[in-house]
Amino acid sequence: MFKILTFSFLLFCSFGCKNIDEKQFSYDEIQDAVAKKEEKSPKFALVIHGGAGTILKENMSDSLENAYRAKLEEAIRTGYAILEKGGPSLEAVMRTINVLEDSPLFNAGKGAVFTHEETNELDASIMDGATLNAGAVAGVTHIKNPINLAYEVMENSPHVLLAGKGAEEFAQTRGFDLVDPSYFYTENRFQSLQRIKEKEANKTAALWDPYIKNSKFGTVGCVALDKAGNIAAGTSTGGMTNKRWNRIGDSPIIGAGTYANNNTCGVSSTGWGEYFIRALVAHDISALMEYKGLTLQEAAAEVIQKKVPTLGGDGGVVALDREGNIAMEFNTAGMYRAYIDINGELYVGIYK
Ligand code: ASP
Repeated sequence: MFKILTFSFLLFCSFGCKNIDEKQFSYDEIQDAVAKKEEKSPKFALVIHGGAGTILKENMSDSLENAYRAKLEEAIRTGYAILEKGGPSLEAVMRTINVLEDSPLFNAGKGAVFTHEETNELDASIMDGATLNAGAVAGVTHIKNPINLAYEVMENSPHVLLAGKGAEEFAQTRGFDLVDPSYFYTENRFQSLQRIKEKEANKTAALWDPYIKNSKFGTVGCVALDKAGNIAAGTSTGGMTNKRWNRIGDSPIIGAGTYANNNTCGVSSTGWGEYFIRALVAHDISALMEYKGLTLQEAAAEVIQKKVPTLGGDGGVVALDREGNIAMEFNTAGMYRAYIDINGELYVGIYK
């Protein structure tokens, strides 16, 4: 009797399971979905920023403006070429940021701003929207391309964020060359620091004020969507001029400076880092989409035009969702920015 009961139970189960299997995993349905997807050419796009701040046309020479536009275009085309070939969004983000890090025009890598002690301390982070894996480095002083080290932390360490000397020891174990800190020197950035220090000495301004009110920021960031539907985001910076005490901003903080999630969006921030940390800007935009159903544009505007200024901060973000929609939201006079959208259209902008 027991045997009969067991047999009937197993029989029932196997029919039951089979029915469920067939319903949920109909091979025909999946094949149809794949075939349909392949009919459409897969969407891919990317967007970058080169920092937000008091960037005004009247303070910019034509030749400098052209130099910024050309470098933004070179960077965005670098990432786009990778995506076009079917490359991953993480690689597109990293290589695009490398172009901006290597340019003295931006406050990342070569051309990073100076600390109070006249050194350059660099921060960067990267995030993979497919896995929610992330890597970041803070306060490194000998790494030519900090975004590459952030990627290395994500891929080849059990950690998310490494700082200072330890981060550089890890870099060496991964075969990175350390560069002499003089590599980061630019006269322009050095003079900005001197001007701020003079004001500080004359007591005409508080520690941070002159830079915050009058300077361009210049952090760089990128968000990409690849043909497989994966979103990645990354950010790299020298931080803020005259920073001291190993100050770390939002750029290497996952959720503040960088965030990516295939289900919602990818975001890279630029602005007054203390406020971006407190408002958890990048994750907040994703959360508004995930939990409140806002569109990318609505979510970015909510955080950048309401939440951050209410706290007293300023800056902007570039962001992109899984459909390839792009948002470039800022509450400053300007933000260096560019995109190539899902139709292959190029846009480069600086002012409001
Ligand atoms: N957010 C950066 C920081 O606070 C600065 C910037 O974006 O310009 O370190």
